[in-house]
Amino acid sequence: MREQEHNLKNLTKCPLCKAKYDHSGAFVLQENNSRTVFHLTCSECQSAVLAFVTESKQGVVSLAVATDLSSKEARVILGKNAIGKDDVLEMYKYLNNK
Ligand SMILES: [Zn+2]
Repeated sequence: MREQEHNLKNLTKCPLCKAKYDHSGAFVLQENNSRTVFHLTCSECQSAVLAFVTESKQGVVSLAVATDLSSKEARVILGKNAIGKDDVLEMYKYLNNK
């Protein structure tokens, strides 16, 4: 099993409607040694979320943030900003200030 697929298994439910994810709606936006960023679209409610999956010594931590960005838009935004330790916070701020 590929690592990113393993990480994705941690994100099994839509945070909004609790439907089980159909992972065919998932795109990997960014990936590095310890972090993977996914864009997921729920097949039930069509809500999109950005999911940050980070591996640390404590284990795998996943954080899903609801977004109205399409996977394309999210890719553009993430592409502009090099991922750093504050990227999740920055993304969060960005989404809240829209
Ligand atoms: Zn949903």
